[in-house]
Amino acid sequence: MIKHHPNDKILSEFAQGELTATMSMAVSAHVEMCPCCQKKVASLECRFGTEALGGEEEVVVDSRFQAMFDEIVVDESVAEMVDTPVTTIMYQHKEIVLPRALGGVDRSEFVKMGKLGRSRYQIEDGSLRASLLHIEPGGEIPNHTHNGFEVTLLLDGKFCDEEGEYVPGDFILLDGQHNHSPKTKEGCLCFTVVSASLHFNKGISKLLNPIGNLIY
Ligand SMILES: [Zn+2]
Repeated sequence: MIKHHPNDKILSEFAQGELTATMSMAVSAHVEMCPCCQKKVASLECRFGTEALGGEEEVVVDSRFQAMFDEIVVDESVAEMVDTPVTTIMYQHKEIVLPRALGGVDRSEFVKMGKLGRSRYQIEDGSLRASLLHIEPGGEIPNHTHNGFEVTLLLDGKFCDEEGEYVPGDFILLDGQHNHSPKTKEGCLCFTVVSASLHFNKGISKLLNPIGNLIY
């Protein structure tokens, strides 16, 4: 079961369209995978929509308006499905369907380093970089902290760190106060948004900088 969700502030900014492009992809993909956040976002969108119309939260929506609203929503979802074909990628000899929010955006080929592979999204978003990160079975990322912040959305497989084990759909936000060393027994595929390079805590950090650059 998904245990880690975007916090209320992030969900609220998402519902109001205030997140940057890559953060919006991360939250949108999580919401696709998480029925709990789908409900939260739907209710936030309803609230912000009502506020935008100048009404009170308790405003009684007249049935004609509701019917019109439903029609618009239905039309949009149909258009969205037509415009966004399913994107699959091959990973550990199986085909994974990416969340729709992560398909249809250009990505680089996977660049490999040891058990890590990274495919970067070709998307301009200031200092934020978004990637798919693949860790092969038995792989780990050496203990590190973050100069900025890092969002990891687990798409497939499992990994664990000092905080416990993560399952697909888990949305993990870490900043400079956390240090961790994720590892995976069975391999995993993640979507990551990283705001600055990683900082490794061991003495051989210089040797690890290429890994930091790969992940950023
Ligand atoms: Zn959630």
